[in-house]
Amino acid sequence: MGSTITLNHLGKTYASGHRAVHDVSLHLNAGEFLVLLGPSGCGKSTLLRMIAGLETITEGRLLLNQQPANDLPPSERDVAMIFQNFALYPTMTAAQNIAFPLAARGEDEHSATRAVHAVADRLGIRSLLTRTPARLSGGERQRVAMGRAIIRHPAVFLMDEPLSSLDARLRVRLRAEILSIVRRIGATTVYVTHDQAEAMALGDRIAVLRDGVLQQIGTPDELYNLPANAFVASFVGTPRINLLHGTLYAPIEGPMTLSMGTQHLVLPTEMTEQQQHLRVVQGQPLLVGLRPEALRVGSATTAYERPLSATVTHVEYQGHESLLHVTVGAVTADPPRTAFDHEDRNETGNMLSAAARTLLSRVRSTRPAPSPVTAEPAPPLPQHYQGGELVLRAPQGVSHSLGDRLPLLVDIRSLMLFDGTGHRVFPHPTHVQAF
Ligand code: ADP
Ligand code: MG
Repeated sequence: MGSTITLNHLGKTYASGHRAVHDVSLHLNAGEFLVLLGPSGCGKSTLLRMIAGLETITEGRLLLNQQPANDLPPSERDVAMIFQNFALYPTMTAAQNIAFPLAARGEDEHSATRAVHAVADRLGIRSLLTRTPARLSGGERQRVAMGRAIIRHPAVFLMDEPLSSLDARLRVRLRAEILSIVRRIGATTVYVTHDQAEAMALGDRIAVLRDGVLQQIGTPDELYNLPANAFVASFVGTPRINLLHGTLYAPIEGPMTLSMGTQHLVLPTEMTEQQQHLRVVQGQPLLVGLRPEALRVGSATTAYERPLSATVTHVEYQGHESLLHVTVGAVTADPPRTAFDHEDRNETGNMLSAAARTLLSRVRSTRPAPSPVTAEPAPPLPQHYQGGELVLRAPQGVSHSLGDRLPLLVDIRSLMLFDGTGHRVFPHPTHVQAF
């Protein structure tokens, strides 16, 4: 049965002085499959190696099954680790490689052989057992290595990008197999990847790491629909979430209005009533997050849709759909750095590039507060607005050409707003699961 794993303010500062992991706290239930997701260099392997006992812990506490484990030798942790490049013994057959942990433990040959056959059947490699690694394909070698890892039925699996050297099709197949194997064994699993699609497909929960700092831990659905900040929002999902610079106007009476460059969205009145906390960010630079599915081409609004007028700048044909790139006279934004947000809190303007700041101030000076009129025709785009782009999906069979002017509808229920430090302020941040 799997162990519980608890990280309590865990941190790692290498001898070089580099602090690779900062103050990470999280808890895994027995048998849970957690994916550690983040860009290259964010500290994923370091964190995994601390759990394995291959790297010393310099701050905080690690508990395995509620027992202090900071100084436990790797051999006493009941963990099996799988790396990207599995090192099989080149002179041994697949069977001998798989049996190695049992042989090292002094198990008798007869029961070891039986165990190897059982594992090989499960992995579909029974016919390969007499081959040496040189005579196996990459995917087959990976299975042998999996076999070697699971034969002991460890309480914890630690996998560090185990599939990233394989081609896409094999990766998808092995992914499904890994999941079914660890579920059957009941091992608690921490799986490291930089691939968000893999993380979304595998994880019971996903922990997103950036610059050694935990950004959010949640189910794939929570990360997608209620990201804690703009970094998480833009790290999960393809096509990437659209992020635009915007400003909220909240008059004492009447609906709030979200201004994005040359156009604006009037928010539903009931939403204004429920979202009084948004008054705090009124007038401040915000990031407006719109996933592609929050947008559609059309002009007949429902109660939760608001119109924008768009110009097609690029069409990507995808077969079952096309991706439309359009400009709406806004300014696109990169997700701000959120790792050390407490230090950035006072500088709300820090996420804006100088160019974006100039643009916004120009917009503000010519349009101090947009009148709450919907479906206002967009003025011709001034030259400096032409970069602002949104991506949305257009169904198969609908053809659009460069330069087409289109009516767009924004589903306000899918709207996200992030403040100057990148934290989500809409939907209300209390929806995020605390960790
Ligand atoms: P990831 O697995 O997410 O790509 P790593 O955990 O390998 O990231 O590395 C995190 C950071 O720590 C990187 O900046 C890396 O250069 C640094 N690092 C990794 N190992 C060492 C080491 N032994 N000594 C000093 N710095 C290291
Ligand atoms: Mg790594």
